[in-house]
Amino acid sequence: MDMQNANLLTQIAPSAKIDRASHGWRAKCLQRLVRMALPVPDSFALPTATVQAIAAGQEIDLQPLSELFSLGDGLVSVRPSAMNPEWGGPGTVLNVGINDVSHARLSDRIGRENADAIYLSFVQSYAIHIARLDPDMFAQEGGGALSDALRAYRDEMDEPFPQDPERQLAGVLRSMARAWEGPTARLLRQAKGAPAEAPLGLVVQQMRLALGPGLCGSGTIQFIDPITGQPRVTGRFRGQRHGETEGAGAETLFLTRDERGSSLEDVAPEIFADLVRFGVAARERLREEMQIEFMVTNGEISVIDAVKVQRSSRAGVRIAVALARDGIIQPEEAVMRVEPRALIDLLHHQVDPRGERDVITSGINASPGAATGKIVFSAAAAQASAARGEACILVRRETLPDDIRGMHASVGVLTGRGGMSSHAAVIARGLGLPCIVGASNISIDLRSRTLLAGKRSLKEGDEITIDGTTGEVLAGAAAMLEPALDDAFTQLLEWADDASRMVVRANADTPEEAHTARKFNAQGIGLCRTEHMFFETDSLPAMREMIFADSPEDRKLALDRILPMQRKDFIDLFEIMAGLPVTIRLFDPPLHEFLPHDRAGLRELAESLDLPLSDVTRRVDALTEFNPMLGMRGVRLGIAIPEIYEMQARAIFEATVESNRKGKPVVPEIMIPLVSAMREVELVQNRVDAVAAAVRNDRQTDFTYRLGVMVETPRAALRAGDIAAHSAFLSFGTNDLTQMAYGLSRDDAGRFMNIYVQQGIYAEDPFHILDQDGVGELLLIGAERARIERPEITIAVCGEHGGNPESIAFCHEAGFDYISCSPFRVPIARLAAAQAAIRSPAD
Ligand code: PEP
Ligand code: MG
Repeated sequence: MDMQNANLLTQIAPSAKIDRASHGWRAKCLQRLVRMALPVPDSFALPTATVQAIAAGQEIDLQPLSELFSLGDGLVSVRPSAMNPEWGGPGTVLNVGINDVSHARLSDRIGRENADAIYLSFVQSYAIHIARLDPDMFAQEGGGALSDALRAYRDEMDEPFPQDPERQLAGVLRSMARAWEGPTARLLRQAKGAPAEAPLGLVVQQMRLALGPGLCGSGTIQFIDPITGQPRVTGRFRGQRHGETEGAGAETLFLTRDERGSSLEDVAPEIFADLVRFGVAARERLREEMQIEFMVTNGEISVIDAVKVQRSSRAGVRIAVALARDGIIQPEEAVMRVEPRALIDLLHHQVDPRGERDVITSGINASPGAATGKIVFSAAAAQASAARGEACILVRRETLPDDIRGMHASVGVLTGRGGMSSHAAVIARGLGLPCIVGASNISIDLRSRTLLAGKRSLKEGDEITIDGTTGEVLAGAAAMLEPALDDAFTQLLEWADDASRMVVRANADTPEEAHTARKFNAQGIGLCRTEHMFFETDSLPAMREMIFADSPEDRKLALDRILPMQRKDFIDLFEIMAGLPVTIRLFDPPLHEFLPHDRAGLRELAESLDLPLSDVTRRVDALTEFNPMLGMRGVRLGIAIPEIYEMQARAIFEATVESNRKGKPVVPEIMIPLVSAMREVELVQNRVDAVAAAVRNDRQTDFTYRLGVMVETPRAALRAGDIAAHSAFLSFGTNDLTQMAYGLSRDDAGRFMNIYVQQGIYAEDPFHILDQDGVGELLLIGAERARIERPEITIAVCGEHGGNPESIAFCHEAGFDYISCSPFRVPIARLAAAQAAIRSPAD
């Protein structure tokens, strides 16, 4: 081959210059197989530059390829070779080179019928894909089909079917090169992450025939179960089958010995043994579990191709860990090979991808996992259902704080409204419940107890399956896969922790969540939202009394009833977390969330408070705010009604003393929400210090604590410098910060978020993936100003973004100390933090 041709195309030989960037993954993979001395038929790689020239209509001298037409049966195949196998490419074309002469020769060797079938299949594919003739005219089958197809071609093209193999090949190459440039192909590969201008390489390979005398056939084999990742030979062998062409005596064999029928292992043990040997070698040399495509021609095996085994998430983890344990890849590489989000599938039940899916509606996939249950429309019905031992799915327009018990009693939640950080979504993630929110085409008719989803109508009690991973709601009970928290999962995360610099904590409010956090190895609690504790049945009446108290004394009396409950909650959390840091956020929500919203509830409240209904109604109305999320909540309540924070501080300190006494020392971290001015922090700090002094005095013992600020208003980020002067740590509450930076309601954004994302106004839902340009800048400004004032200050993120891999990488780059996320996201965050560290090691 001369130099010019050497650049135009390259024979795939062990020492040839072939690389993925210029020849594509398939050419590179074939070269590796050739280097392993596997029986790969002669193959040539056309680099991307050649393919581009062909697409542009240039005549290319493909002289070396014509030698292939004089070898063996004189046929070749052409396959796409993009840079990444996921990007696809035009379909493979087989049997290029067949003409009247080779057809006659083939008829003698493999029989007339087989030769006809091969010729026919090529004429059809050439007519449709290269000559672009109407497919309906080339649907011939049975006797006489070949001559009919050849005649149809001649009639349409005014010339006989091309007999020159080189002309056939040039036509095939041109059509594949052009197909890659077409708008549909572009869109398809861009959807899979390919750059718009991703180039294509092509591979031309000498063909062996899988039809004819002796053992002939084609097959694929892989050595791993694609769903579980356990070692297992799977695949198939089709005797007397060549591409889509079936010859006489076609039969599908099992690969391994099987009671149900004959197998390749029995029929051709030496071929089977070769395949197993190839598989072991390919795994070691290609450092991957490969699926091998092979042909058998009269008992002789050839390897045509090998591709990475398609795999489920759980198989992906098992495969990566097994490769590292076998010393084939480094543990760090195993960590890099698993997509953090893929771990979600391992943590929860998952709809079995092999099963049927009867999708009735879809929404935002707010909390992953899958569950099947009967439809209920209220928290009370959910609790009743749980009491009967029946799994139920809570379906609501949106959930409110007093739905929490109903959510606890359900196996999944579906709402018509809301986005990623709406109440239902946040609580469900904390509980590890599958949840879909913002399913905007559902409507609930409470009178007829019916759920309408598009044209489908379902009754209360009907069974549905929530697939919180995809956001789809399915009718009936879908087949499920169990969670896979096995040794491979644990091992991968241990390797991840070895590589990480940033610590991962969990957002946990309840003992159950704290246990989950520990189970997933969170290094502490980064956010305990204490208000959830006030919704408990025991504390809610006292809370309401506190809200209605007329004097500070009455208020204190009510809070004194809550104090022991809070203290007990904190003791439990400290106990479970066993000395790991626990950050307790002081009370945050607006008070009206604790009040009933309907008449019956108001009447009940009037009874329990022994007040006239009108009085209660008036006071509830007086607490109503036009914009409660920007109203009297967070530290503003702490300033306006100081007794609440004082009670909480006392509960925290008394729990600390108790824990220390039990020999489980703890340094609690107290966090002030919704701060916007330094003076707020100063005031709260003075009061909390005073409570600490009082508790030290009462209990005659010492303890330490850290006071910090939740940075979740834009002003707090901008004033982080002077706020830091009073703070041991700053934790960015990116949910509220996103809400306020965009002026976008967390609870209403679901309505139009899809439109915004689809139209490219927002690249992503900013409540889901941190907006690095805007909100991210506030984080960087805040961290920088705080560190100038107090270099040793701890900087963290505790909004929902703390569980999002891209946002975690941002926090790693910014040098934050920890992120805190829902307990069920902890494994994902640990893996994402490790990957960020491996990608950009600390300087
Ligand atoms: C936040 O605002 O980011 C946050 C963590 O607090 P919450 O979601 O409770 O408002
Ligand atoms: Mg907040």
